Amino acid sequence: MKMSEVLNVEEIFASKVFTLGKMKERLPKNVYKEVKKVMDQGGELSLAAADVVAKAMKDWAVEHGATHYTHWFQPLTGITAEKHDSFVTHPDEEGKMIMEFSGKELIKGEPDASSFPSGGLRATFEARGYTAWDITSPAFLKEDATGVILCIPTAFCSYTGEALDKKTPLLRSMEAVSEQALRIVRLFGNTEATKVVASVGPEQEYFLVDREKYLQREDLIFAGRTLFGAPAPKGQELEDHYFGTIRERIGAYMKDLNVELWKLGVTAKTQHNEVAPAQHELAPIYETANIAVDHNQLVMETMKKVAGRHGLTCLLHEKPFAGVNGSGKHNNWSLGTDNGVNLLDPGDTPNENVQFLLVLACIIKAVDTHADLLRQSASDVGNDHRLGANEAPPAIISMFLGEQLEDVVKQLVETGEAAHSIQGGKLLTGVSTLPDLDKDATDRNRTSPFAFTGNKFEFRMVGSSDSIASPNTVLNAIVAEAFCEAADVLEKADNFDAAVHDLIKEYLTKHQRIIFNGDGYSDEWVAEAERRGLPNIKSMVEASSTLTTDKAIKLFEKFGIFTEVELKSREEILYETYAKMINIEALTMLDMAKKQILPAVIKYTKSLADTVLAVKEAGADASVQTDLLNAVSVKLAEAKKALLELEKVEEQAGTIADQKEQAFFYKDQVRTAMDALRAPVDELEMMVDKKVWPIPTYGDLIFEV
Ligand code: ADP
Ligand code: MG
Repeated sequence: MKMSEVLNVEEIFASKVFTLGKMKERLPKNVYKEVKKVMDQGGELSLAAADVVAKAMKDWAVEHGATHYTHWFQPLTGITAEKHDSFVTHPDEEGKMIMEFSGKELIKGEPDASSFPSGGLRATFEARGYTAWDITSPAFLKEDATGVILCIPTAFCSYTGEALDKKTPLLRSMEAVSEQALRIVRLFGNTEATKVVASVGPEQEYFLVDREKYLQREDLIFAGRTLFGAPAPKGQELEDHYFGTIRERIGAYMKDLNVELWKLGVTAKTQHNEVAPAQHELAPIYETANIAVDHNQLVMETMKKVAGRHGLTCLLHEKPFAGVNGSGKHNNWSLGTDNGVNLLDPGDTPNENVQFLLVLACIIKAVDTHADLLRQSASDVGNDHRLGANEAPPAIISMFLGEQLEDVVKQLVETGEAAHSIQGGKLLTGVSTLPDLDKDATDRNRTSPFAFTGNKFEFRMVGSSDSIASPNTVLNAIVAEAFCEAADVLEKADNFDAAVHDLIKEYLTKHQRIIFNGDGYSDEWVAEAERRGLPNIKSMVEASSTLTTDKAIKLFEKFGIFTEVELKSREEILYETYAKMINIEALTMLDMAKKQILPAVIKYTKSLADTVLAVKEAGADASVQTDLLNAVSVKLAEAKKALLELEKVEEQAGTIADQKEQAFFYKDQVRTAMDALRAPVDELEMMVDKKVWPIPTYGDLIFEV
């Protein structure tokens, strides 16, 4: 590499972000102070200040080539939405035009909301929806063929104030958990902290396939996953892809991706090959939950965009290929005070760290009480192929604490006292030139859906294509509730030490059933979890109604995170989304089977039949050819029958008016019919000459990237 090509990461980092630093530089002191205050403590910016900020923001954006701005928001589609407006204004008499952007335009937008999912919250005739500037997430520039666009992160709500997006409830949940956590730290004498911040670091898994091949598969184009496909002779069994050397083409992609993300202020940190062939991972450094959610959207978007430049396509689907690992998102979550205390840091001797033990007990209680909601928050259509299906992690929520904490919990439950903590000790390498390492007090557990990993919890159920807003909203909400209930008791206690001791013991004793340190992927655990009474919700549609139980409504209304109406609408949207997605998948399968696969197989049988005749005519034994012809014809007939059945149920599905009933029909009938069509087609793929198979195979797709 020539010196001129050396990448100056420090210089490019956040070069496309209107950071706090840039505001400090460009805003008058008093305005900057006002912005900072609203950011830190909430409240509203005066219109006068907003005008100044808007102008500074616009000037900065225009200096970088921006022509438009957009209120960037996160409707319930799970992805982001934008509508561009240029800074162009009415020209004066002489025809001169000045680019402008006002405080009002910065603070509030009004996209026509009628075409976003609202779950009946908003009839199309009252389609007003508003976007409101989220001052806590910085504005940034997006650059593509459209030009440079100033993106302003916003919340999206209806004319009557209901949240129509993922950001609003998340922000509400962050305030709730902050308020309740503050009550807890105050009890332990922390008078300095003014808020408690939820931090999130999401590890993002993805697949890369060759774009040319991708374009030859309708299923990848329309459904984001393969709907047919026999396994390649080699899968992931050798485990040679995990952490393997990154191939040149992929490496060039990763480099480009990092640069784009760094420019956007995303702290892309770790990259590696994942378990499945063609599967990779990117992890950023953790940030405030709200920004982490926004950034994860940018990560997903940038992954797709950059792939195009390298002749690749990025698949974010949870299960693009049957038989090899799917993709998830590990959502690392913790709580920290603004004076630097991580509430999830146990210290060296957790048994003596009473505040930590109370926080832990509250989280255990929260997760046990609302396991159903957590499971729901991680469900989307694609994740049904992982959770509770033949892929880890299971659909049962359990918590892994590790040896050290489990031992402390056990002592507390059994005797009410925790006298000691297991220590990590030294790892002796046995080689004189290698250093001996300090060992963690606990090994890892890769099979737990909710694992304590040192100073944070790692929620591993989340789907790779999903927004991480919902899981974090639920986490914040359920923990806020547990903190609130604990604080209600402890603030009134005459003897604080005794009361906190009793409370920890009570919570741990009542909720210890959620703790499981064994193999979460085993059948024994499924049986054991059932004995313990833990919910095992197998699918997205079954999980949807957990949003509207009395328990859930009480929780979310208490902390002003969702109203009952908002929850009901969200449940409706889930059914609608599920039905629509499976409908697309079924139609895609029918299309591919009818127009590509069956015609190819029929042609193949014709050529086999010709061969049989020719061989016979030549007086030779044609039994091999005849057997193959028979076998292929049998599978062809099976496929045809399954196709007709799928057509039938697909049509039936369309006639069901009730959304919930329809979603269940898609899950139980349509998906079953889809599986029944896939089976003979995949078998045919293994029998038929590769040259006549009309679409790229698994081998082509995941081994030849
Ligand atoms: P692990 O190996 O346990 O998965 P890493 O250090 O690789 O841990 O971190 C994984 C993700 O967790 C990263 O995004 C990291 O920034 C994030 N993370 C680390 N500490 C915290 C924390 N206190 N709160 C939230 N996320 C965190
Ligand atoms: Mg991890």
